[in-house]
Amino acid sequence: MKKKCVSIVIPCYNEQETLPTIYPAITDVMKTIPEYDYEILLVDDGSKDRTNEMMKELAAKDEHVRYFSFSRNFGKEAAIYAGLCNAKGDFVTTMDADMQDPPALLPEMVRVLEEEDFDSVATRRVSRKGEPVIRSFFSRSFYKVIRKISDVDIADGARDYRMMTREMTDSVIALSENNRFSKGIFAWVGYKTKWLEFENVERVAGETKWSFWKLLKYSMDGITNFSNVPLMISSYMGMLLTFFSFLAIIFIIVRKLIFDDPVSGWPSLVCIITLIGGIQLFCMGIMGQYLSKTYMEVKRRPHYIIRETNSEDAERNK
Ligand code: UDP
Ligand code: MG
Repeated sequence: MKKKCVSIVIPCYNEQETLPTIYPAITDVMKTIPEYDYEILLVDDGSKDRTNEMMKELAAKDEHVRYFSFSRNFGKEAAIYAGLCNAKGDFVTTMDADMQDPPALLPEMVRVLEEEDFDSVATRRVSRKGEPVIRSFFSRSFYKVIRKISDVDIADGARDYRMMTREMTDSVIALSENNRFSKGIFAWVGYKTKWLEFENVERVAGETKWSFWKLLKYSMDGITNFSNVPLMISSYMGMLLTFFSFLAIIFIIVRKLIFDDPVSGWPSLVCIITLIGGIQLFCMGIMGQYLSKTYMEVKRRPHYIIRETNSEDAERNK
């Protein structure tokens, strides 16, 4: 009987320091489950260092390695998507290159999918040890907000490290939106997921690719991609303000007619105009966010462009 195959997708952006650690780590772990075949899909997300050359060297000496080099930096989500689209395995895993997602969990993930009634095994960190306090605070708040206002359930500390069955992988690929937020997509497609927990591990080498602004943009994407609540807030705010100003107008008219009060207080008028102007701009901004997302989606541009690969049948633009 043909062996089942495990695909391991690794997005890499400037990971020349970590590739020499992660590759042997995965190989060693996969040797402990020889009843499974495996492939390592290294996706080079337009790295500017030696990542691409290193991938080629690995692919030349190990047939388990397939590499895909993007024509530029398309972002981690695009790299994951490219890996998923090209994975051929029965079980498909996504994993970071920096050893923050322990490869040692792989055999347990395979065992769960094989023996228990689950379609995916996901992981979450139970601690954020070693992470800057301010970053932990913002991350926690983000997960709280998104769980409240969207209908998908995204666990706090959830990693993109998970293994899925072929069926679930195909469902994830079928969600071909351009603006991808994987954690939300994994939750949206449903299926039965088992959660494994582990302590936070720090990057083995190199630096995180996420600045504060990149994370902020990522979280905004997460919220607008999976929730319409911000749009609703702006229309409720509009309704509320209209109601109050209507009351105020009646009040002023009545006061003028009955008490013949002169209309006074231009400073308060200026304040009110500025307040309303501000709120209007704010609401227009929210609408703009959704509009620009729609604009990007309707263009139907490919998620990524592969410049170079050792897989002949690769999906080069998708
Ligand atoms: N990554 C990527 N493209 C990017 C940024 C990051 O493919 O534009 C990859 C990176 O190589 C790593 C993973 O995404 O494998 C996670 O990145 P990082 O470790 O910097 O993020 P953190 O763990 O700090 O959230
Ligand atoms: Mg990392």
